[in-house]
Amino acid sequence: PGAAVSARPAPAVRLDGVVKRFGTVTALEETWLRVEQGEFLTLLGPSGCGKTTLLNLMAGFLEADAGEIFIGDDLVTATPPYEREIGIVFQNYALFPHMSVAKNVGYGLRMRGVPKREIAERVAEALALVKLSGFADRSPRQLSGGQQQRVALARALVIRPKVLLLDEPFSALDKNLRGAMQVELKEIQRRLGVTTVFVTHDQGEALSMSDRIVVMSAGRVRQVGTPDQVYRHPQDRFVAGFIGDVNLLPGRLETRAGERATVAVGGLRREVEAGSLGACAAGATVDVFVRPDHLGVRPAGEAGTLPARVAALVYQGSHIDLHADLHPDLAGGGRVVVRMPGHGALATYAPGTPVGLLVPQAGLVAFPPEP
Ligand code: ATP
Repeated sequence: PGAAVSARPAPAVRLDGVVKRFGTVTALEETWLRVEQGEFLTLLGPSGCGKTTLLNLMAGFLEADAGEIFIGDDLVTATPPYEREIGIVFQNYALFPHMSVAKNVGYGLRMRGVPKREIAERVAEALALVKLSGFADRSPRQLSGGQQQRVALARALVIRPKVLLLDEPFSALDKNLRGAMQVELKEIQRRLGVTTVFVTHDQGEALSMSDRIVVMSAGRVRQVGTPDQVYRHPQDRFVAGFIGDVNLLPGRLETRAGERATVAVGGLRREVEAGSLGACAAGATVDVFVRPDHLGVRPAGEAGTLPARVAALVYQGSHIDLHADLHPDLAGGGRVVVRMPGHGALATYAPGTPVGLLVPQAGLVAFPPEP
């Protein structure tokens, strides 16, 4: 096994048992993480979960209380930020207001003593990359928010960093501009192949941009996986609820063997993965998790459905969210949301209509009940 391990290329960033405390608050519990070469990795979680702390530890703005940090083959745990060869973009752009765009972008190269002529070439190249070629002599004050953020990106990339770190870079932009910038950043990242660590609390942004997502809460990494893994195979309730909308149906564990288990939901029997069931044994009450777009609606009483009643229809533009109450016989009922493409539901299902809920055969995940 030793040979196999050493044959693996060094990750772009590696955290070995890193811990960070502020006084009595543990902002980051012991964390082990590899960021692979060229990947786009997103740190996702609610406010205060430790994302920025983790990014700042990689950047060298914070010192770890325990553990070691590597960038490529280099141990950098005690290396100051400017010697780590990283590029950083912050939420608030942080451009130097008294310098022109070109001077801002060239800053890191001047600090590194790069010859003037080469600086001019690389600044022009970086500005072309972010589509701001005509803006070299402007002052940051003469730029829109989106343009300022492009300058910040050019400034981070011009030094050809080993790792690009981005802390909520688009959160100050309006929704449309944010969407356009996400696509553009992703294109640039793919073209350059630069390893990128991106911080956001926006699930949609994480799902659409990342190669892998690190889901965090309360200073802990909950799950690391591709967008599809964390969306379709959440490891716990926190991840299930944080990545997209979710319904919990009342279920009972019937059988359990190895990696598979069967659960009963009302009169339906479904197979689920056993991995997320913790110590639950046959007979235990479980919560069965299903996304709104995986449920369907049929006429009441149709075989293979769960009895429910329409509570409300919510128009969402591209789709309708049908809210339904499960029949009280199903463990006391409960509200579920069914996402229905098109607008046909508006005419068919008035509030109060009894319906049958269609539960998918596959793709269900079950969790132990909340303690
Ligand atoms: P946000 O999205 O709001 O920035 P975050 O996920 O980035 O949140 P962090 O900023 O990493 O979270 O904070 C993690 C925890 O550490 C929080 O409880 C925060 O209050 C605490 N914390 C962060 N920085 C400091 C500091 N300099 N001094 C004391 N406590 C801090």
